[in-house]
Amino acid sequence: MANTPYPQSYYAASANAVPPRPALQGEVETDVCVIGAGYTGLSSALFLLENGFRVTVLEAAKVGFGASGRNGGQIVNSYSRDIDVIERSVGPQQAQLLGQMAFEGGRIIRERVAKYQIQCDLKDGGVFAALNSKHMGHLESQKRLWERYGHTQLELLDERRIREVVACENYVGGLLDMSGGHIHPLNLALGEAAAVESLGGTIYEQSAAVRIERGATPVVHTAQGKVKAKFIIVAGNAYLGNLVPELAAKSMPCGTQVITTAPLGDELAKTLLPQDFCVEDCNYLLDYYRLTSDKRLIFGGGVVYGARDPANIEAIIRPKMLKAFPQLKDVKIDYAWTGNFLLTLSRLPQVGRIGDNIYYSQGCSGHGVTYTHLAGKVLAEALRGQAERFDAFADLPHYPFPGGQLLRTPFAAMGAWYYGLRDKLGF
Ligand SMILES: Cc1cc2nc3c(=O)[nH]c(=O)nc-3n(C[C@H](O)[C@H](O)[C@H](O)COP(=O)(O)OP(=O)(O)OC[C@H]3O[C@@H](n4cnc5c(N)ncnc54)[C@H](O)[C@@H]3O)c2cc1C
Repeated sequence: MANTPYPQSYYAASANAVPPRPALQGEVETDVCVIGAGYTGLSSALFLLENGFRVTVLEAAKVGFGASGRNGGQIVNSYSRDIDVIERSVGPQQAQLLGQMAFEGGRIIRERVAKYQIQCDLKDGGVFAALNSKHMGHLESQKRLWERYGHTQLELLDERRIREVVACENYVGGLLDMSGGHIHPLNLALGEAAAVESLGGTIYEQSAAVRIERGATPVVHTAQGKVKAKFIIVAGNAYLGNLVPELAAKSMPCGTQVITTAPLGDELAKTLLPQDFCVEDCNYLLDYYRLTSDKRLIFGGGVVYGARDPANIEAIIRPKMLKAFPQLKDVKIDYAWTGNFLLTLSRLPQVGRIGDNIYYSQGCSGHGVTYTHLAGKVLAEALRGQAERFDAFADLPHYPFPGGQLLRTPFAAMGAWYYGLRDKLGF
């Protein structure tokens, strides 16, 4: 059987040691079969185990193989579309519920790290950086909006103040969120997987779900085994393929790329990001970066619609890094990789249930580190019969991408080109 390794990322190279996990052989019976061991699957598994369910997780490759083990590591609050957009498209009660949940994912991560002693270099503090006055106006209104939902750890940064937290000349100001922050994303996933196992859950790696036999007691088939369950949670996100055809039409896998420098040394690292906050700018096609615990710069940006792997990632991302930090022109790039996230047309998560017993959450469209942790809790609540918060997500409307499966990529790329032009022109 094919053995799919991690991509050659900085995260894989610096992952905490974990024992190998077997592939599923033969038949097992469980309460909940979770498909996918990224944050959505692991968070669901943990909340379910904590509530007395028996859980079996099937992972096609390895724990954290997908976006959860490759991302920028930024703990960003709220959703990929902010609450004001939600307020305009749903009723006040649903908007209120979704707004209240927008800051819970970050708290869940911190609770998990503390409760299960997860070694993942957790640091507090994330900055949204404004490149022009329009961005700054947006951050001011975002602060007011988030404060309305009780989220108060925010500080607006003027041009002088932002220079104190990031040595980039391009910014006119920013917003500091002290409940944001950053982590080693793969080590977070590995720590959560160990927590799942410590509570009696089972994780099979190299065990792709290839078919779901639907019915009162659904069965998930892998190449060499099957799992009979009361419930299924589908958490394969951008790597799911066509396992559940009804989900594919309303979402689109997209790639985004990340590079990691050689270690910069304490002194240079401290001049770039003196308080060790993570940063993302306010462009639609945004750049995001942070330091690692061994003082490298991890820098990400760019989107490839349709998730083709670009040939030379360093050639795409390094110029963006040098635009922010020309002082790094002689620094070597040690790692470059790509990963896929799942985009929906509204950029809000696609959540729901098929029949009585197949649940799913996917498509958080870029910012997913916090949302996926919340999703696990909300899915577990729904399986326990408390579906109010689940329904608030499940009732969000979703539409197919224009052009269908064949033409959605060029259509979305055209949209992105338009927004990229707006970013460049600053309007
Ligand atoms: C490069 C990159 C940078 C990012 N940076 C950030 C960031 O800094 N901050 C932020 O908030 N968000 C970021 N994101 C988004 C965030 O990482 C994702 O939203 C989140 O990790 C998605 O988690 P998930 O569990 O839903 O999916 P994934 O982590 O992709 O996990 C899905 C898992 O399911 C498995 N799977 C798929 N199909 C099957 C099957 N048939 N059978 C068994 N297993 C299957 C896959 O192998 C995979 O391990 C980034 C994404 C990428 C790609």
